[in-house]
Amino acid sequence: MTVAGSDSGGGAGIQTDMRTFALLGVHACVAVTAVTVQNTVGVSDFVAMSPDIVAAQMRSVVTDIGVGAVKTGMLASGPIIDAVASTADELDLGNSRTVPLVVDPVAASMHGDPLLAAEAFDALRTNLIPRATVVTPNLDEVRLITGIDVTDAASQHDAVRALLDMGAQWALVKGGHLRSSTQSPDLLSDGVEDHEFTTERIATGHDHGAGDTLAAAITAALAHGYSVPDAVRFAKSWVTEGLRWAYPLGAGHGPVNPMW
Ligand code: PLP
Repeated sequence: MTVAGSDSGGGAGIQTDMRTFALLGVHACVAVTAVTVQNTVGVSDFVAMSPDIVAAQMRSVVTDIGVGAVKTGMLASGPIIDAVASTADELDLGNSRTVPLVVDPVAASMHGDPLLAAEAFDALRTNLIPRATVVTPNLDEVRLITGIDVTDAASQHDAVRALLDMGAQWALVKGGHLRSSTQSPDLLSDGVEDHEFTTERIATGHDHGAGDTLAAAITAALAHGYSVPDAVRFAKSWVTEGLRWAYPLGAGHGPVNPMW
């Protein structure tokens, strides 16, 4: 199940989550958190669902269909984060629980349009990240959540540590353009094992939805029974191919293409 927002342009959010789940052989259930008005040049508006409706969608899916793994993406507001966190407890999802919970702490679109209310970061830090089996921030999200500006391998380790100290079981800090213009180094740790995943950095203007697709592929792999390090290794190489085959669309950034 994905707990996430809709992208009317079909590149990110629940649309890429559902595509990714289907391509990886997983049935996709959805708890919609928000509807964005979005195309390839940006997000011009969004409306958030009520927290009760988000919680009710999660409950409805889990009590009838069941879930192998759950992912959160755009959560829009602090009250929705609080509702997702308490419903995760009720449904036995998350860190040290039966069903893995992947928390992609979506803060803004690649164009800088906010997708999470500024006052919601406390709820993210204190209520959702402690329930994450794995949390998957990019460098901008790391700065907003931990205050750490990741510029090198040492600060990337510090950021991972800060997320683990908040209570996440595993933290994956995505390196993006860090350290080298030709490689994309991501660091995953549970405080005991460190794993570094470095893939070729694909230079493309069409990478909309790459973060969502990575987290969705991790979630699908966990649903298939992979360990967290194996799920991340698989998802990272899968998204790298998706970036290689990304296609132009509209006047702005086209989407990552997981259908390679
Ligand atoms: N729209 C929705 C609904 C999302 O969940 C996300 C990403 O997490 C985005 C937009 C932003 O995607 P990108 O940063 O690739 O533009």
